[in-house]
Amino acid sequence: MAAPVPISEVKGNTRENRTAAHSHIKGLGLDGQGRALTSHQGFVGQAAAREACGLVVELVQRKKMSGRAVLLAGGPGTGKTALALAVSQQLGTKVPFCPIVGSEIYSAEVKKTEALMENFRRAIGLRVKETKEVYEGEVTELTPEEAENPLGGYGRTISHLLINLKSAKGTKKLRLDPSIYEAIQKERVRLGDVIYIEANTGAVKRVGRSDAYATEFDLEAEEYVPIPKGDVHKKKEIVQDVTLHDLDVANARPQGGQDIMSMMGQLMKPKKTEITEKLRLEINKVVNKYIDQGVADLVPGVLFIDEVHMLDLESFTFLNRALESPLSPLVILASNRGLTHIRGGSNLPASAHGIPSDLLARLLIIPTHPYNPAEIGKIIQLRCQTEGLSVATPAMERVSQLGEKVSLRYALQLLSPASILARVNGRPSGQIDLDDVKECEGLFLDARRSAQHLGETNGYIS
Ligand code: ATP
Repeated sequence: MAAPVPISEVKGNTRENRTAAHSHIKGLGLDGQGRALTSHQGFVGQAAAREACGLVVELVQRKKMSGRAVLLAGGPGTGKTALALAVSQQLGTKVPFCPIVGSEIYSAEVKKTEALMENFRRAIGLRVKETKEVYEGEVTELTPEEAENPLGGYGRTISHLLINLKSAKGTKKLRLDPSIYEAIQKERVRLGDVIYIEANTGAVKRVGRSDAYATEFDLEAEEYVPIPKGDVHKKKEIVQDVTLHDLDVANARPQGGQDIMSMMGQLMKPKKTEITEKLRLEINKVVNKYIDQGVADLVPGVLFIDEVHMLDLESFTFLNRALESPLSPLVILASNRGLTHIRGGSNLPASAHGIPSDLLARLLIIPTHPYNPAEIGKIIQLRCQTEGLSVATPAMERVSQLGEKVSLRYALQLLSPASILARVNGRPSGQIDLDDVKECEGLFLDARRSAQHLGETNGYIS
């Protein structure tokens, strides 16, 4: 009997999860002249679209994209989302990327234009630079003696935690509020990382990443208390990346102050709140003031709207207007539809991609094309490497065939369940075998076989 597979708890469902399938993509993979390299930065093939996206990046950098947007037009799984993500990566590090699907804006609670506005503001970053007094420390684990000696000043009391900062000048004990631990957790601090803790507010910033430890802190458990060690209390320039939406949320709370640190401090405790137009205007004012003072820089990111034909006339009108705003991110739309009716415009003739002509006129349209078998094989290999999956050659050949015959999406989706089956089936070092892939194919149907199955069992679909 094979060893049981450990099931880990799902921790939150953040937006990052949406880009998890693209974690092998690190950029558009272009050379110095803007030509697509065959396989570079995780991108394979789709050369013309990548080069066109490279030009869009240049237009944005030269501030020649205002009032315009991009449309990626192509079949499912042809890399539209991957291209949009790569554009945001080419625009710089920590440039916000906000991916949504057209249908997401419809909800009973929030107006659709409000939902669109929220996502516009998620796609606009603000880089705030401030000189602060900070404690700098490398995060280390408590020794067992320290952990067992709370009265000695190292362990946990009910409402406070103690942290030791060690430096060449000696050791300084800090009494920290549990909220700082929330902050440490939010920054995904691991053992071995270097962190700054702001002297006045306790805001935490991770400035160095250690690869030495794979695990993140689990501060829920009474396991260990991190001790930063390093120089105590020095002046540092702290760079904080936030989005306008983060600031909206932080300030929608009654206690919201207008200075940057109180805005930041509140980012750690997100709650459901109402954001009004008035509040947004106020925030824009403060943001503009900081930009004028040189304290902050605007970092326009990318708002990616997949299945754009799901938007309706009212939303398209909003989009047209929002594109004119000086506070606009780069908007990249995607569609796999040709000529289709515009939602909410049943009296209008069908339009290209279900988009009204006034918006179509503002678009740079980039087509994406299906992949050849060699490209499909290479993309699957890249995913396996990124996910740390070991796949036997016949199994890899089978998955590549599925990518070609069924779809790239289907093939990629089989990898994770196949790796679980490989472990359940007791394969040496968990390597995916051809039989694991075949078993997965039996468990998870592709769309064509699924429709066929219903047709056979109840005759509804032939
Ligand atoms: P849909 O229309 O269904 O939204 P899409 O066109 O946005 O599909 P993606 O989601 O970008 O397609 O691609 C599917 C998967 O294949 C993703 O994991 C993506 O990262 C990967 N992928 C697609 N094209 C490439 C490529 N040219 N090089 C490397 N990986 C790719």
